[in-house]
Amino acid sequence: MICKICKNETNNFNDKYNEVTYSHCRVCGFISKDEQHLVDSKRENEEYNRHNNNIDDHGYTKRFYELINDYIRPNTNEIDVLEFGSGPSPVFYEILLLEGYKAEHYDPYYYKNDSVFKKKYSIITSVEVVEHFYDPLFEFSRLKTLLKEGGYLVIMTNFRTMNIEAFNDWWYKRDITHVSFYNEDTMKYLSDHLGFKIVQTNHKNIIVFQK
Ligand SMILES: [Zn+2]
Repeated sequence: MICKICKNETNNFNDKYNEVTYSHCRVCGFISKDEQHLVDSKRENEEYNRHNNNIDDHGYTKRFYELINDYIRPNTNEIDVLEFGSGPSPVFYEILLLEGYKAEHYDPYYYKNDSVFKKKYSIITSVEVVEHFYDPLFEFSRLKTLLKEGGYLVIMTNFRTMNIEAFNDWWYKRDITHVSFYNEDTMKYLSDHLGFKIVQTNHKNIIVFQK
């Protein structure tokens, strides 16, 4: 297998609990679920429909306020935002509007608003989305083209901070729709390769790229 991010040769390994095969890239650290185990879009959609997130659930919305206050406002005063992969209930999009942002949102299943691909934005947010990418290099490149020069891409996904043995027990991979797993090296590679600059990260699940 060839790494979907850096195109180097990968090592395959099997999940110790089921038949699923993953490919691991030693160069950029990326782990990809084998194509034959990827779920079809109908099954994927059913899985997403089970997530019913609610703007009145403060435990759930806290993360969005943290993103705005700790990762967006300290970097930029611009207010035009694309919330990419907004999901079945676009809670972060609604919060961005409430917080004074001129926000738009896009989701391939729930809000296929293709007009967003004709514009450019100062800020793009993508929360718990990149782990679902089948073609991460294409998607990250496309997000870059949608950013204005100097714009910010704010990403939330759980970084793989453990080794391959411990990856077998990681809860994050149990979601059948999670197919792409990044560690900090993968993010660094993506940033360098696509010509971004990493301006902020908590080394755990949030990273901010600047174009
Ligand atoms: Zn790689």
